[in-house]
Amino acid sequence: MIVKTEKIKKSYYSPSDKTEVLREIDYSIEKGEIHCIIGPSGSGKSTLLHVLGTLDSYDSGKLYLYGREISQIKNKEKFRSENIGFVFQFHHLLHEFNVIENLIIPQLLHKKDILKAKNIGENLLEMLGMNQLKNRHPSQISGGEKQRVAVLRAIVNNPGIVLADEPTGNLDRKNSQKVLDLLEQIKANYHTSIIIATHDDSIIEIADKCFLINKGSLKEI
Ligand code: ADP
Ligand code: MG
Repeated sequence: MIVKTEKIKKSYYSPSDKTEVLREIDYSIEKGEIHCIIGPSGSGKSTLLHVLGTLDSYDSGKLYLYGREISQIKNKEKFRSENIGFVFQFHHLLHEFNVIENLIIPQLLHKKDILKAKNIGENLLEMLGMNQLKNRHPSQISGGEKQRVAVLRAIVNNPGIVLADEPTGNLDRKNSQKVLDLLEQIKANYHTSIIIATHDDSIIEIADKCFLINKGSLKEI
């Protein structure tokens, strides 16, 4: 099991109120699976992804990544950057850098040699037939292209886990399909475990399993 949770609970508290977002979530994903998490707005999809990605804390229960209970992991930031790739609805590319630089920079943070990093970035762009975009800045490419570059950026360091929060949320059908094709290709080539939070039904087509989150519970559908 790449990711596993046992009875994870999380609530948000305000002075007058308590919102129970996750109630005893038991969940797991195997290597090379794509899962989708669907549910209405405000149902806890982003919270769950943040918890699974160690970006957010939880109140009780256990989270295991690669069989390691995460409170036992000393350098969480390092562990996260080596093992987990994130894709968000808004692409968050670095605007002052061009496409290939956006793919190189996360690799340099892993102390990779710059030529090797460039090579990996170019190969990924080539895989999508997007090499001609490599010297353009994010403002000079389309929304769909930006989102595909953002997906590539999430995998440049070859993480075992990719967490994608509404990755097609801002895209039309054609561009959504391209992002989904890319995620499938990543699964096929690298056996990555991919968890996608979405309210886009077309994602169901590429998923091995789908889960519905509602009123704090997660159910396979
Ligand atoms: P989704 O991604 O499914 O739309 P979220 O995980 O963003 O849902 O939010 C789940 C619930 O938790 C919502 O009711 C939201 O208002 C609440 N929530 C999310 N983040 C916070 C926060 N930082 N503080 C307080 N409440 C939050
Ligand atoms: Mg959300």
